[in-house]
Amino acid sequence: MAEANMIAPDEAPILVWLRRDLRLRDNPALSAAAATGRPVVVVFIRDPLFDALGAAHKWRFGLGLDHFAARLRQLGNRLILRSGSALDVLRDIIGETGATTIYWNRAYDPDGIARDTEVKASFASQDIDVESFSGNLLQEPWKTTTKTGGHFKVYSPFWRALSVQAIAAPLAPPAQLRLVGNVPRSEDLAQWDLGAEMRRGAAVVAQHLLLGEEAAQARLDQFLDTVLPEYGEGRDFPARALTSNLSEPLAYGEISARQIWHQTLLRYPHGEAEKFLKELAWRDFAWHLTFHDPHIQTGCWRREWDRFQWEDRADDPRLIAWQQGRTGVDLVDAGMRELYATGRMHNRVRMIVASYLTKHLRMHWRFGQQWFADTLVDWDAASNAMGWQWVAGCGPDAAPYFRVFNPDTQQQKFDGQNTYCRHWLGTNSGFEEAVPLSWKTSRPLNPIVSLPEGRAQALAALEAFKTAEHPAT
Ligand SMILES: Cc1cc2nc3c(=O)[nH]c(=O)nc-3n(C[C@H](O)[C@H](O)[C@H](O)COP(=O)(O)OP(=O)(O)OC[C@H]3O[C@@H](n4cnc5c(N)ncnc54)[C@H](O)[C@@H]3O)c2cc1C
Repeated sequence: MAEANMIAPDEAPILVWLRRDLRLRDNPALSAAAATGRPVVVVFIRDPLFDALGAAHKWRFGLGLDHFAARLRQLGNRLILRSGSALDVLRDIIGETGATTIYWNRAYDPDGIARDTEVKASFASQDIDVESFSGNLLQEPWKTTTKTGGHFKVYSPFWRALSVQAIAAPLAPPAQLRLVGNVPRSEDLAQWDLGAEMRRGAAVVAQHLLLGEEAAQARLDQFLDTVLPEYGEGRDFPARALTSNLSEPLAYGEISARQIWHQTLLRYPHGEAEKFLKELAWRDFAWHLTFHDPHIQTGCWRREWDRFQWEDRADDPRLIAWQQGRTGVDLVDAGMRELYATGRMHNRVRMIVASYLTKHLRMHWRFGQQWFADTLVDWDAASNAMGWQWVAGCGPDAAPYFRVFNPDTQQQKFDGQNTYCRHWLGTNSGFEEAVPLSWKTSRPLNPIVSLPEGRAQALAALEAFKTAEHPAT
C-alpha cells in the first residue's frame, strides 16, 4: 500500500471487474473507466459461483476469455485472471495497484446479487468507490413496472410496457485503455483447465461455436441482411436455420441485447422485425422474473407445484435414456443428440424434449434444467429456469399442464421432410464421436414410454394433483 499512497488521485487506477460482458463495444463499465483517462486494470475472477457452472458452459467461457484477452492486448491492455473469493481478489489487486475505484456491469441472479452486495458494502467503509452499470439487458428489471408499480408475471403486458420505453443506445468501443504501470500478476488460463469436464465432446462441439465479439457482430449483420425477413414464418422449423443463433454470444456478453435491438430497428424501422424483437424481449422477461421472484431458480414458481408427485430419482433409467437420446421417440432423441454434439438445441425442439421429460416421463423439471445447464453453450440461468417451468406447467405464463406436446405430431408439422431427425439420428452427425465411451448409442425400436400411455398417465397425475390441492372443487 506504500506505493499506492503516492499515486495522485487522478492517476489512481480503476479496476473493471469483468463478468458476463466479454466485449469492448457497449460495455458501460469499461467505457466509463476509459473515459476517466486513468489507468485501467481489467480483472476476471474465477470465484465459487464460476466453479459451479456446467461443463460445456465453463469450457466455452474459457474460450471466450481467451478471445477477449487478445482483444484487450490489441488495445494495449491486459486481462488479469485470478481465482478466489471476489472480495479477497479485489482487495488484493487494490493493494497491489493502488486502485481507488471498482466498476462492473450488474448481475441479476440471486447468488450474483448477494455476492455483489457484500462486495459493495465491504468497500463502502474503505474509501473505495464502487459503481455498477446496466449492461446486460435491454432494461433494468426494476424499471419495467405495472401501472401499480409491481412486476409483471405475464409476458404480453411486460412486452407492451418494455417496448414503449427508450432502450439505451449502445456505446462505441473505447479508443484506448491505459495500462497500469505495475501490471498485477495473472494466473494462466490454460492452467485453469476449464474444459476438464468436457471429455472428448469438446472437439465436436467446437465446430459449432460462434466465438467472440466480431463473430457475433458478423452473425447479426448476416442475420439482418438475409434471414430476418423469413424469421416470423420460419423460426419454428429446426432444419431451416432461420433463427439468429445469438443466444450463445449473448450468454457471455460478447454482444449486448441493446446492440441487437438498435441494429435491428435501424435496419427494419417500420415494425417488420417485431416478431424477432419480441423473442429477444423474452430474455429480458426471464431476468425480470428471476430478479423479482428468485425462487424460480430452484423451486416451482407456482409454489403449490412443489407438492406435485414428480418422479425424483437421478438414476432413473428413463432419465438417462432421455439424456443420451435413446427414448425411441425420433424428435426427442434427435434434439438430445443435437444438444450433446453442438451445445445448442432449436427452441421448438427444446419445448418438445422438455415436455416429454416432464409430462410423458413425469420426471422433475429440475433434472432437465440441470442437464441443460451442463450441456448448453448458450446456457442462461433465467431463460433456462423459465423455459423449463413454462413447459412443465409450474411457471408464470405457463402452457397449461394439460397441454402435452405430441412429438410425432410436432415432427409432422415442423420437420415434415424428416430432414432434422434424419440428420441427428444418422451416423454422420458427430454425435457418436462426441459422447463418452460409457454411453450406449443404439436406440430402442419402440419408445420407452409410448406417447398415448405417457399422455394418459400425465393427465391422470394432473387430475390427482388437482383433487389433492382442491378437494372441494
Ligand atoms: C426448456 C427450455 C430451456 C431453455 N434454455 C435456454 C437457455 O439456457 N439459454 C437461452 O438463451 N435460451 C434458452 N431457452 C430459450 C430459447 O430456446 C433460446 O433462447 C433460443 O433457442 C436461442 O436460439 P436463437 O438465438 O437462434 O434464438 P432467436 O429465435 O434468434 O431469438 C433471438 C434471441 O431472443 C432470445 N429468446 C428467444 N426465445 C427465447 C425464449 N423462449 N426465452 C428466452 N429468451 C429467448 C434469445 O436471447 C435469443 O438469442 C430455453 C427454452 C426452453 C423451452
